[in-house]
This record gives sequence, structure tokens and C-alpha cells, in this order.
Amino acid sequence: MRRLLSVLALAGLALTGAPGASHAQEDAPAPAAKPAAAGAAPAKVLFGAVKQPASALAPRAIGFYSRGCLAGGEALPVTGPTWQAMRLSRNRNWGHPDLIAFLERLSAQAPKVGWSGLLVGDMAQPRGGPMATGHASHQIGLDADIWLTPMPKKVFTAKEREDVSATMIVRPDRLDVDTQVWTPAHVAIIRTAAQDDRVERVLVNAAIKKALCRDARGDRSWLQKVRPYWGHDYHMHVRISCPAGSPDCRPQDAVVPGDGCDKLDWWFSDGVLHPKPPKVPPKPAPPVTLADLPPSCAAVLKAQ
Ligand SMILES: [Zn+2]
Repeated sequence: MRRLLSVLALAGLALTGAPGASHAQEDAPAPAAKPAAAGAAPAKVLFGAVKQPASALAPRAIGFYSRGCLAGGEALPVTGPTWQAMRLSRNRNWGHPDLIAFLERLSAQAPKVGWSGLLVGDMAQPRGGPMATGHASHQIGLDADIWLTPMPKKVFTAKEREDVSATMIVRPDRLDVDTQVWTPAHVAIIRTAAQDDRVERVLVNAAIKKALCRDARGDRSWLQKVRPYWGHDYHMHVRISCPAGSPDCRPQDAVVPGDGCDKLDWWFSDGVLHPKPPKVPPKPAPPVTLADLPPSCAAVLKAQ
């Protein structure tokens, strides 16, 4: 883990210590931050301090997944018939209404494919924006982390939602999934998410992608959207496409053709699994400020 942390640190990425919450930049690098003006507050502080959505504004995802904000955010109700939101103290169960609709749609399908329901981790802050801990993306209300732990029958208390750990899916040697916890229902829920028309990407650990490649039967086209990434060994990260009515939402590049199952070797190479720490620790990038975000994000921050 220390080596993984060092490679992530090398890439200038943030991690949190909580199980199920290891995250990285997720697929597309953000443009480099300009040096902050003297005294300019980091945008993560400004957006982290706002507890309510910009509900006077129409719903809009503004900017890019890893550099933007959210107008008209909506909360995922913390308990639904087939979902429960976790880690409520973080106040990150917010998203564009299209993300809420997607999660409700996926959760309704879950029991039909053998997955009892969704435990939903971080989505976005009430007005999106950079976060103080844990993610480079999740900024425009179109990303959600879904635990790879099926929902129990009981409704968790608020305390349990803080304390319960997600299930580690990856084997200690990180070369494959743990067969004690991996089931056909894991394949089914990841496939169901990837098959949703609005889903752009599903990010999972490379060992999970390897298992999906091995276990997928029949149509394999959905595997194209399932991409390997660092971390993501307790949860899948689902990203939906830019919504209608969000002209400032910048889409991600299209996924490369093919199921990607022949391109996994690099992830299991010694240099990636056991990276050497850098000789000179990299300088942390200056914090992103409001000036680095799309111009409308200042109005989002101020709005009622
Ligand atoms: Zn995520």
C-alpha cells in the first residue's frame, strides 16, 4: 500500500485513508493549475464550506469532471427502497438530477440481476467543485462511487453509515480478485451499470477488470466502458455523460474501441504494482482557486 501511495503521490493525486475511499484522478488529467494569486482561497475550501445547493439556478454541470462545479444540485435521498447512501457526514450525496435518476434506475434494476441494492459512496458536494479530500473528479455532479458490497436487508443507522467498511475485492497480491468475495452478482451489477446509455465510464481496479474479462458471457461490448484505474478496489466509480441543458459541460474523449481485455498486462507489471519511490519528492501542485474554474462557478458559489 505504501508503494501504491507513493506512485499516487508521484502523480500528484490525493487519497483518503478511509476504506473504500481510495481515489485517483480518474482517467483524464485536469489542466495544470495556474499559480494562485496571493491570498486566493483554495476552491476546495470555498466549495467545501457551502452546505446547500445553488437551487435558485437551473441544474447545470459546468466544466470538466475534474475541474468545474454544479448548479441546481439535487440530493440523493439517503435511504431508498433499493439503495442507501453512506458516509453522510461528508455531505457528498449531491448530483445533477440526471445522476440521481441514473442511481435510482440502476438501483431498481439491481435486485433483478441478483444484487440486493446499492450502497452509494461519494457523489458531489452540494455545489460540486474541488473537494478537500479524496477525489480529483466528482466536481460537476456526474460521478458516483458505488460500493462493491451488496446492500444488507437492514437500514443502516447514521453511525453505521460512517463505520461500516466496504468489502476489499482485490487479492493481497493485487494480481486478481479475491475469490472468497467475488461473485457472479458483482459481474452483473457492473455490467448493468455499464450498459446504461447515460454511462460514459465505469472505473474499477485492474484486477476487477481482469475478472470481468474472464467471467463475462455473451455480449461483451459493455466491457469497453469499464476501465482499469488505481484504487477502486472497494467500489466502482460510475460517470455519466454531459446532460442536455449543460452547454458548459465538457465531455470526455470517447472510450477506445474494443473490450480492453488485451491491454491489462501493464497494470500487473512490477513497476506498476511495486513502484519505486521517487528520489526527489514531487512538489505539491498549487491549490486550484476559483479563477481556475469555469467563470460561471463564481456565480454558483454566490447563488441562493
Ligand atoms: Zn470516484
